[in-house]
Amino acid sequence: MIAPPAHPLPPLDLPTRLLMGPGPSNADPAVIAALNRQPIGHLDPAYLALMDEVQILLRYVWQTENPMTFPISGTGSAAMEATLANVVEPGDRVLVGVMGYFGDRLVEMASRYQGDVRTIHQPWGDVFSLEQLRAALEEHRPQILALVHAETSTGARQPLEGVGELCREFDCLLIIDTVTSLGGVPIFLDEWQVDLAYSCGQKGLSCLPGISPFTMSPRAVAKLEQRQTKVANWYLDASLLAKYWGSARVYHHTAPVNLTYAFREALRLIVAEGLEATWQRHQRNAEALWAGLADLGIACHVAPEHRLPTLTTVRVPDGVDAKAVTQRLLNEHNLEIGNGLGELAGKVWRVGLMGANSHPENVERFLTAFAQVLGKA
Ligand code: PLP
Repeated sequence: MIAPPAHPLPPLDLPTRLLMGPGPSNADPAVIAALNRQPIGHLDPAYLALMDEVQILLRYVWQTENPMTFPISGTGSAAMEATLANVVEPGDRVLVGVMGYFGDRLVEMASRYQGDVRTIHQPWGDVFSLEQLRAALEEHRPQILALVHAETSTGARQPLEGVGELCREFDCLLIIDTVTSLGGVPIFLDEWQVDLAYSCGQKGLSCLPGISPFTMSPRAVAKLEQRQTKVANWYLDASLLAKYWGSARVYHHTAPVNLTYAFREALRLIVAEGLEATWQRHQRNAEALWAGLADLGIACHVAPEHRLPTLTTVRVPDGVDAKAVTQRLLNEHNLEIGNGLGELAGKVWRVGLMGANSHPENVERFLTAFAQVLGKA
């Protein structure tokens, strides 16, 4: 037998942090309270009723009437993979707009499902114009266009007005990554004619990692139904998942029941606040952050018109050791922000104001601590 650890471990003890990085952000206390309940069976009538509530709430928060709307058991990457796995058949042409790290992840995943992947690129921090997207659709004639609405690596918000119409014109499905936008940035999935979208629990929804929104429009479902090949990922096959989430209630996998409680509470809180009020709160607090940074003489990486309210990329001033600053914020102020990712590593910090954390007190707390660490206080 392998021996147990030499010294018995004490019960779990963790620091309390204010999470103002790219995610996770702090979960709302009501969400944690829901998580702390005893599990019930994942086919218990009370749980089935909860599943129906979750679907109704999620459709509202995403502004869609798609019947095929439910959370995936897994993090945002699982829901991301679910969108591609269900509609990409070997040889399908998939066009990905890459303007940051998560565009590259879409490329990687689509190629694993044997898509004929084409890419267009924008510098990290920029977004695509409708004209650029039209030109790329004309050139590549894809079956699927995938775009990141909120690029967490750059802090840029891709405008989506008109993109869905363009995709209909070119008979192509539109996939949108809303991992850093859902719950914090206006999204109108149906109005924008988005066919597939995914998100996560741990950011704008003030929930937790491990449960992730997923939706498919009837157009996308039609593509799924017409597949010549099976979905190559059993766990993420939406036609199987729909039999559990729909009226048949056929067992697929054991649902993460406590995460579903938490998710239901998180969505309920957004409805209680009002979706538009939630978006306005995120915008107001982000603007206060940007003004405070300007007062400190610190620049933001993204042009104001494309800046995300949920995630701000802050330029690291010349001569400043970016990682040393994030470490001091964590160690001395219990405050987490993110370092730059990929091309922007060492060049920016990433400051998140998402979900319950988007609050004036947190803006103040960050600006005070940041100024102190930078020696500007
Ligand atoms: N897409 C974007 C834009 C993200 O920011 C992230 C994570 O931060 C993901 C996808 C992947 O989500 P997860 O880390 O929850 O798997």
